[in-house]
Amino acid sequence: MACPSLTRERSFGAPLSLLCATMPPRFAPPHRSTCSLWRRSVTSLSYVPLYQWIDGNKLSGDGRETSDVLNPFDGTVLGSMPHATEADLQAALESSQRAFKQWRKVPAWERSAIILKATNLIRERLEQFATILTLEVGKPLAEARMELNLTVESMVWAGEEAKRIYGRTVESRLPHGRAIISREPIGPVAAFAPWNVPALLTGRKIAAALAAGCSMIIKPSEETPATCLMIAEAFADAGLPAGVLNVVLGEPSMISKTLISSPIIRKVSFTGPTPVGKQLAALAAQQVTPVTMELGGHAPVIVCDDANIDAVLAFSVPNKYFNAGASCIAPTRFYVQDGVYDAFVEKFTAAASAIKVGNGLDPETRMGPLANGRRLQAMERLIADAVSHGGTITTGGKRIGDQGFLYEPTVLVNVPESAQIMNDEPFGPVAIISRFTNVEEAIEKANRLPFGLAAYAFTSTTARANLLADCLESGMVGINTYYFGMPEAPFGGVKQSGYGSENGTEGIDAYLVTKFANYA
Ligand code: NAD
Repeated sequence: MACPSLTRERSFGAPLSLLCATMPPRFAPPHRSTCSLWRRSVTSLSYVPLYQWIDGNKLSGDGRETSDVLNPFDGTVLGSMPHATEADLQAALESSQRAFKQWRKVPAWERSAIILKATNLIRERLEQFATILTLEVGKPLAEARMELNLTVESMVWAGEEAKRIYGRTVESRLPHGRAIISREPIGPVAAFAPWNVPALLTGRKIAAALAAGCSMIIKPSEETPATCLMIAEAFADAGLPAGVLNVVLGEPSMISKTLISSPIIRKVSFTGPTPVGKQLAALAAQQVTPVTMELGGHAPVIVCDDANIDAVLAFSVPNKYFNAGASCIAPTRFYVQDGVYDAFVEKFTAAASAIKVGNGLDPETRMGPLANGRRLQAMERLIADAVSHGGTITTGGKRIGDQGFLYEPTVLVNVPESAQIMNDEPFGPVAIISRFTNVEEAIEKANRLPFGLAAYAFTSTTARANLLADCLESGMVGINTYYFGMPEAPFGGVKQSGYGSENGTEGIDAYLVTKFANYA
């Protein structure tokens, strides 16, 4: 039942969920454009200057505080990120409000054209974008390219959807009356994007909001400001009017508090950890501002003994260690049926230990470093705790070197549910493999956490597939696949993994409100 083309994919570092969603390489050979970032040589590994981008102005210096952006491979400083001041944020809010009044009047086909032009520019600049992305996050260049292709697809989808925002009419109660239901842009949006997939998770927020006719102020993660600025520059070069998109950088809690508390902001979109999502949702509730929350997960994978184990492994290992495990939909808790458990553990361990870990810029690298020191500490804490609870490491379990944040691909077995790693999302390169006897028991284990973003199951029996798809409590369920990368389908979680969706028609809907106009 798995997509046959998946089995032919060559390397890992190319997660199957993304590969399947990514078109064949189609970016044009690099050529010069007016983009200041792009004027640098594509072979240059130098980082780019960082700035607040507010109302079309690039703001840095002038006594603003700064913090370092690090290369996670070796811990060296890539650049200096200026922090937004209160005055910067007020300027961004006022700019966003002004720009919204104009942008909402721009016809949908023109909004669409600007978004699609920005996607063409990202394609043209893809090689330099990918290098910057790898420098910031550490992921292998092949993964960075794939993420950018997926970002483009998601933005193209949103840009096209701008033309398909429909209202409806209902029968009036009066002989010559009209009853019209229309969809309108909700207003200026405050968006907060994380570091793990920084191009996709900024690009799809921006494109969907702009497609709907909203303006947006976006704050990328402190680890990945340049990736967001490159996307913003593509929009500027595509002709987006000043202020429709503002980028602010700096201290997350100060920025989120100021923006979300402002009555100018009419919508909040956040991707990141569940505890932060709860804080931001509470802030938004003070203004009765709607929010879309893409939060953490802890994805279970149920492997039944009737599945093709070699095919499951061929999908599972790349997906597990994609982005060094820092993916909210990463397969994490593997529940494997008795009959195939031993072989599964043995083969999984062998495949994980063969992964080449290193510099994402090295074409031989299949897994880069963790993105920051916080993840390194989290991995060390979670693995030690699992072992102290009786868990066994079958491979990995250690930091590599003492510079940067490299960590071994790790497999754990015999970990009890009381261990922290069975309850808190590791967001790192660790697979935890447990055994089960009957499917109902596995479903119960899979559903026991308060998360519900992604869940997976592998079986060749239709009745089991249906049971698993019906009973797994999750916003997304993959049956014999890890593939959720289609921009035409909604992406989102249930339970404490959040609410609302990105992508699909739902992703545009998130930036619209409904108006009923009744004519007598
Ligand atoms: P962290 O708590 O240090 O912060 C992570 C991100 O949240 C940063 O990008 C930061 O800018 C942002 N943030 C923190 N406080 C904020 C605030 N008050 N307002 C606005 N933004 C704020 O966590 P971490 O170590 O970087 O990441 C680990 C956890 O994050 C994982 O366990 C995972 O659950 C979650 N995460 C989820 C996603 C996702 O796609 N759903 C992405 C990234 C991280």
